[in-house]
Amino acid sequence: MKKLIAGNWKMNGSLESNAALVQGLLLNAQDWKCDVALCVPAPYLSQLQNLSKASPLLFGAQDVSMHDSGAFTGEVSAGMLKDFACRYAIVGHSERRQFHLESDALVAAKAQKALASGITPIVCVGETLQEREAGLTEEVVKRQLAAVIHLNGHCISEIVLAYEPVWAIGTGKTATPEMAQQVHAVIRAALARADATAATKIRILYGGSMKPDNAKELLAMSDIDGGLIGGASLKAADFLAIAAAA
Ligand code: PEP
Repeated sequence: MKKLIAGNWKMNGSLESNAALVQGLLLNAQDWKCDVALCVPAPYLSQLQNLSKASPLLFGAQDVSMHDSGAFTGEVSAGMLKDFACRYAIVGHSERRQFHLESDALVAAKAQKALASGITPIVCVGETLQEREAGLTEEVVKRQLAAVIHLNGHCISEIVLAYEPVWAIGTGKTATPEMAQQVHAVIRAALARADATAATKIRILYGGSMKPDNAKELLAMSDIDGGLIGGASLKAADFLAIAAAA
């Protein structure tokens, strides 16, 4: 399966720095052997749409509303993302679960809205350090996944999953390739119970301090189909090195 390397810029960027970063990435686009995407802050979607034209660079958003339209101040709908030709939308990132109290059911509803607009949700799951230490990793990840399958089972093959152990995000601590593979295999098995064919097609990304020096080993694991990259996606050389490792 073709790997996907997706950057998550989080709340970073400016018109000027985005242009420089994307131009730096595109210098190398002819060498990409994997899909490469950037998930950017919503105000920059139009800029990405222009910068990525006639290139293999894909782009998307970092969140999507569970509503279609109406009195939801600050929200951005899937239809609006579609207007800017978004290919992807991250849903359920741990920073949204943690700081915006997003529940499993809300994340599943957001994935449903993205799918209904033809946008691929990148659904994030993962345990906190406390949950890992309590031996709850599998339980947490399966619970988060079950909500998404419950609502989207009929088109589950259309999603991308990202296993992002919360303790590894932005901390410099990475799951070892073996630790990550173990959870990816659990995710794949849970998907297979819902839809055996879909489970073989769904890309399961690893996210959490993936960097040029650990990407190759992580991406070599049998159930790791790409990466969701935060910090290292803000530096063209690092992001390209990760794409090259894929
Ligand atoms: C993320 O934000 O999804 C992420 C994985 O961040 P980082 O690579 O910085 O840990």
